[in-house]
Amino acid sequence: MLYDLVIIGGGPAGTSAAISAARQGASVLLLERGRLPRHKVCGEFVSAESLSLLKKLLDHLHSALLHDAVRIPRARLFLDGRTLQAAVDPPAASIARFDLDAALWHSAESAGVDARQQVTVQSVAGCGPFRIVAASEEFETRALVNASGRWSNLNLVPAENGMRPEKWLGVKAHFAEPVSEPSVDLYFFDGGYCGVQPVGTARVNASAMVRADVASSLPEVFAQHPALRDRSRNWTLLSDPVSTSPLIFRNPQPERDGILMAGDAAGFVDPFVGDGISLALRSGSLAAQCLMPFFAGEASLPDAVRRYSRAYKESLLPVFRASSKIRRMLVLPGYVRRPFLSLLESSPAITNYLVRKTR
Ligand SMILES: Cc1cc2nc3c(=O)[nH]c(=O)nc-3n(C[C@H](O)[C@H](O)[C@H](O)COP(=O)(O)OP(=O)(O)OC[C@H]3O[C@@H](n4cnc5c(N)ncnc54)[C@H](O)[C@@H]3O)c2cc1C
Repeated sequence: MLYDLVIIGGGPAGTSAAISAARQGASVLLLERGRLPRHKVCGEFVSAESLSLLKKLLDHLHSALLHDAVRIPRARLFLDGRTLQAAVDPPAASIARFDLDAALWHSAESAGVDARQQVTVQSVAGCGPFRIVAASEEFETRALVNASGRWSNLNLVPAENGMRPEKWLGVKAHFAEPVSEPSVDLYFFDGGYCGVQPVGTARVNASAMVRADVASSLPEVFAQHPALRDRSRNWTLLSDPVSTSPLIFRNPQPERDGILMAGDAAGFVDPFVGDGISLALRSGSLAAQCLMPFFAGEASLPDAVRRYSRAYKESLLPVFRASSKIRRMLVLPGYVRRPFLSLLESSPAITNYLVRKTR
């Protein structure tokens, strides 16, 4: 069978593309190498920009996920002994990836997507139509979306400038905390940060991005910051810790050899801005929208790919620019950063402005 669209990867980007294309009548095959539900390394902060899209993507059986999600109206940054506060306005939602990815997957199935788990794509041939090679099967498709995430066997591109990047890793687990503030708390230390936010009743998610030579487990991360060490002292582990590595930032690339790249496969945004899921949902849906004229015979595949590339750069690229500016500020030497932080502490309006700039 020749599919209109094959999508590699069943995370938020892949399922968003699949649901959007299938609901508009395309024949869609979605391939995921893992099994769902499962925990993924993530802060689980879903920014407000994508909540209306998420609501549309979820079928009626899963709409409660969004409705019942803890709202996060505030961010607190713990850095250099100071606490900066900023409003998250409109509030974000806190949704466990265990539930989010599974709900999107089931919504794709109910939209008519042929959704298959435990199928690892090994290679891709052609430039439209494409041949997709998995371990024991092959598939043919008119168009292809690569939503296989940040670090897949399919996306092994060398680091920019040929430089060997520092090794960063991500770790995450859920813990019992009897009472939590409805806030995303970011604890920064030399060589990384850890985000903590409530993700259900008496349950918090702790998720860290850390340099491999600084820490490799959550207890080691908690020991890096005095306030986090004190806070975590009475936590009990509720989920097995998961980790991922390496974390490499590259300039976003929405198209590669006629393939539409969506979500982290297109570009990995700094996790602390909490926009990765939102970018994944939005880019997946955008890819599907841009392909519809091709499926209807009104445009060629190269036209559809160009349209996607343009739309991606216009609507999604600004988030990457803003987040890399803030990252640069956070890694400044302490003697430059500290006066800047004093200014932010005495002027919440500037802090709110900076947080808004990442939105
Ligand atoms: C420490 C950390 C904290 C973060 N915190 C946040 C946060 O609070 N908020 C936020 O919005 N974002 C956060 N992010 C980013 C967010 O997790 C990602 O941006 C998001 O998961 C991207 O979704 P995706 O669908 O592109 O990729 P993924 O969710 O990674 O999905 C890709 C899927 O493709 C599958 N796959 C890979 N290769 C193949 C193959 N060959 N064949 C078939 N399937 C394949 C994988 O199994 C995977 O399920 C964080 C990231 C890290 C590392």
